[in-house]
Amino acid sequence: MIRFDDVTKTYMRGQHPAVENLDIEFTRGEFVFLVGASGSGKSTLMRMVLKEVAPTRGTVYVAGKDLSRIPSWKVPALRRDIGMVFQDFRLLPSKTAYQNIEFALAVIGTPRKVVRRLVPEMLEMVGLEDKGKRLPHELSGGEQQRVAIARAYVNRPSILLADEPTGNLDPATAEGILDLLAEINERGTTVVMATHDRAAVDRMRRRVVEMVGGKVVRDEERGGYETPAPVSVISGNLPDDSTHREEHPLDDEELVADWDGAPESPAAERESSEEHAGPAGADRSVEVDGPDAAEAGTGPSAEDRPVAQDVLEEDLIDEREARRVRESEDFTGDFDQDQEELR
Ligand code: ADP
Ligand code: MG
Repeated sequence: MIRFDDVTKTYMRGQHPAVENLDIEFTRGEFVFLVGASGSGKSTLMRMVLKEVAPTRGTVYVAGKDLSRIPSWKVPALRRDIGMVFQDFRLLPSKTAYQNIEFALAVIGTPRKVVRRLVPEMLEMVGLEDKGKRLPHELSGGEQQRVAIARAYVNRPSILLADEPTGNLDPATAEGILDLLAEINERGTTVVMATHDRAAVDRMRRRVVEMVGGKVVRDEERGGYETPAPVSVISGNLPDDSTHREEHPLDDEELVADWDGAPESPAAERESSEEHAGPAGADRSVEVDGPDAAEAGTGPSAEDRPVAQDVLEEDLIDEREARRVRESEDFTGDFDQDQEELR
């Protein structure tokens, strides 16, 4: 699903690499904790998966595809298949919970009928069915993070990257967020979560990858937050290769169609398959960029902007795209009315 092949990232010449000689693979359906001190390279690793940061050396593969070979116009489609959640939530401040989630669907031209079904479904999944009308500042931190997770998951991405998602939350609230991520993982999405949340890691007992100074110093199945014994396993030199196959896993090959295939209707697919947890994700509702992107008036350069950009700028782009969607044939819905009907 995600593979780093001898990847080094140096942001500035002469500096110590943020990530160094990284050889690691996250297979489909895994839940992986990335632990390590601040500055150890966790965020850099995630940003390379999103193609926000390019490796200085080595190759990053997502679903069997070498990211350096993906043209910029296909990057938005790649990113649509990767949900992202941050420590500081990054919701659109002037939009309600409902609208924040709706937005992720609206920008890809999802038909109104589907939006009206999916948004309430997501609100319910994250336990906020009665709070769709609240603005982010009217929600607690935990609730805001639930909205952010709903937004990241509503398109049923193959991969969910969570960068310290519980970093701003109290322990009890953090537990709820973690349970939600675990549920998403159980539904078939690969989850990679960077964290300092010792309790979370120890409670879940999933794969733990520990980084120090840009290198993986521990890679443990069902690990704890801390090394149990002297450094147990060094990535790339594993006695058990079950999670670190040299070859691409078969499912990666099959997934190539996701954002390299012929255009098809994502909305129709979404309608017909509820869980998108098919054997190889061949039914995933990944939008293939085509005329739509051109129509939006956002050329490759604009579309190639980093996902984690300033929220204000994102908001402007979002507003424009939302307007376009509202005016389009498929999506003639009145957002406010949808919300009324929610109640
Ligand atoms: P973590 O997420 O584990 O805290 P990061 O990936 O953010 O680690 O950072 C790893 C190293 O790369 C740190 O030394 C950090 O200062 C450096 N770094 C991260 N982003 C940039 C950037 N955009 N420009 C220069 N250096 C960076
Ligand atoms: Mg970080």
